[in-house]
Amino acid sequence: MFTSIAGRAVVVTGATRGIGKGIAGVFARSGARVLVTGRDEDAAKATVAELGAGGAEVSYLLADVSRREDCERMAQAAADRLGGIDVLCANAGIFPDVKLADMTEHDIDSIFATNVKGTMLTVKACLPHLERSGHGRVILTSSITGPITGYPGWAHYGASKAAQLGFLRTAAMELAPDKITINAVLPGNIITEGLDGLGQDYLDGMTASIPQRRLGTTADIGHAALFFACDEAAYITGQTLVIDGGQVLPESLQALDEM
Ligand code: NAP
Repeated sequence: MFTSIAGRAVVVTGATRGIGKGIAGVFARSGARVLVTGRDEDAAKATVAELGAGGAEVSYLLADVSRREDCERMAQAAADRLGGIDVLCANAGIFPDVKLADMTEHDIDSIFATNVKGTMLTVKACLPHLERSGHGRVILTSSITGPITGYPGWAHYGASKAAQLGFLRTAAMELAPDKITINAVLPGNIITEGLDGLGQDYLDGMTASIPQRRLGTTADIGHAALFFACDEAAYITGQTLVIDGGQVLPESLQALDEM
């Protein structure tokens, strides 16, 4: 059914590893032509080699989403290499943890620079190309943390992920006349290099709190992004989709025990 992605020009930010790489892989395997971005050249090269191994058209560009010039260079590179941009997955994000009492102004500024300003600069730079596409799609990677849940150490992160949704709702209205949709995926706990770094205790605790008793895969997020990107989702905009194995559902620990 969802066959409309083949040949489409797709940009995925923060795709040198983790969820972005998973999203890029799903699009590449669906026949899209993909530009992946990030700042780590070795990781970018490895991603392109892996995702392009089956013959898919995948290339990389080094770009920091918190820098306007980089976002504009990224949009231009996509236009030059892919002939335009049909789908933008604004996924790049960071999640360092620090409790509020110890949080510095720099901690707040740096998370907002990447997660909020970076998202907005990325979308803004790609707009002319998405408009020309005639079926432009933007998919933001937000999170359950902030919009729905809280976790000690991530007050600034949660605020940044909720801010993305504030941006999303007005952007959806402004972009609608140009037939561009913008939606967000809200991952729960997804197995990535970034999450691995939080340690086995964190991973075990999280797994126990999820009704499906497993962490998500990057492909789980990629498939949700693919749905928002396809022609069949043309009438959906300004919306969010939680992909979390049911993690936000239990009312209490007892509710989980009684499953
Ligand atoms: P990750 O494994 O740490 O990967 C983060 C990606 O973002 C990397 O490719 C990194 O590339 C890139 N990146 C970071 N800062 C950047 C910047 N300033 N400019 C360009 N690229 C940048 O993290 P992840 O778990 O995949 O997270 C990806 C997104 O999913 C984030 O927005 C995060 O908030 C969200 N999320 C993750 C989870 C989860 O469970 N993993 C849950 C909810 C939401 P370079 O290092 O090459 O720059």
